[in-house]
Amino acid sequence: MEEARFYTATPDGVQCLLCPHHCRIREGARGICRSRECRDGKLYALSYGMPCALAVDPVEKKPLNQFMPGTYCLSFSCTGCNLSCRWCQNSDISQEAPEDVDHYVISPEEMVDICLKRGLPSIAYTYTEPFTWWEYMCNTAVLAHDNGLKNILVSAGYVEKDPLKELLPYIDAANIDIKAMDDAFYRKYCGATLAPVLENILAMKEAGVHLELTNLLVTGLNDSEKQVGELCSWMVHNGLQDVPLHFSRCFPRYKMSSLQPTPVKTLIRAKETALTMGIRAVYLGNV
Ligand code: SF4
Repeated sequence: MEEARFYTATPDGVQCLLCPHHCRIREGARGICRSRECRDGKLYALSYGMPCALAVDPVEKKPLNQFMPGTYCLSFSCTGCNLSCRWCQNSDISQEAPEDVDHYVISPEEMVDICLKRGLPSIAYTYTEPFTWWEYMCNTAVLAHDNGLKNILVSAGYVEKDPLKELLPYIDAANIDIKAMDDAFYRKYCGATLAPVLENILAMKEAGVHLELTNLLVTGLNDSEKQVGELCSWMVHNGLQDVPLHFSRCFPRYKMSSLQPTPVKTLIRAKETALTMGIRAVYLGNV
């Protein structure tokens, strides 16, 4: 447990300023992400140093296809997410509280040490929403850079500007998952909003981070040619046509256990649409 950054005191607790939810948290309660709690008038990041998932992954699995291809990265996550996508593919860790999931106890120093001892060139903050464990990620990323390692962020990009700005100098590559180019979709299915995600993607590009984007295609919800076209149109309009775009297959999970897995032909059609609209590199994931 570590005192959180980015919060302010309120008469009956605190207000978290880490992500656009701006949760007002009373004494003893937690924010939407389940991983930040108000104790004695302070906000604490509960999962600090408590990764629940730890693995060595090919960098292409993040997915990043144009960043250090052929290498492996030390990948880890703590519990927590500030979105609540109804089809979440990792809900067993993203939608749980830290104390409800088995975890390791690993300090940032030990994490960097594990990476160095294994001869891995990078660390990936991944699997859940790393911004909900910002302090652990940031402290690890600083140490990783000091030791010549690269840092990879895998996120939905729903964070406030200040924490993003403070982290970005230490992030070398990022894959941001865009759910759909539709604010109503974000609100209805993900419990979030679209505008901050788009602003943060552009901020990352501006900061010189190697950027790739993912669009998980959910059957019947965001997989139409029109919806794919709107995403590609936004990318081209904002000079992101060279950013690799990954269309990923969705499987039945979490609150959508009866969902039909995304047909491969839907992904192929999305790829053709993207290429036609000027996106230069398009990949298919989970296929
Ligand atoms: S990081 Fe968590 S506690 Fe903070 S505003 Fe976002 S959802 Fe709420």
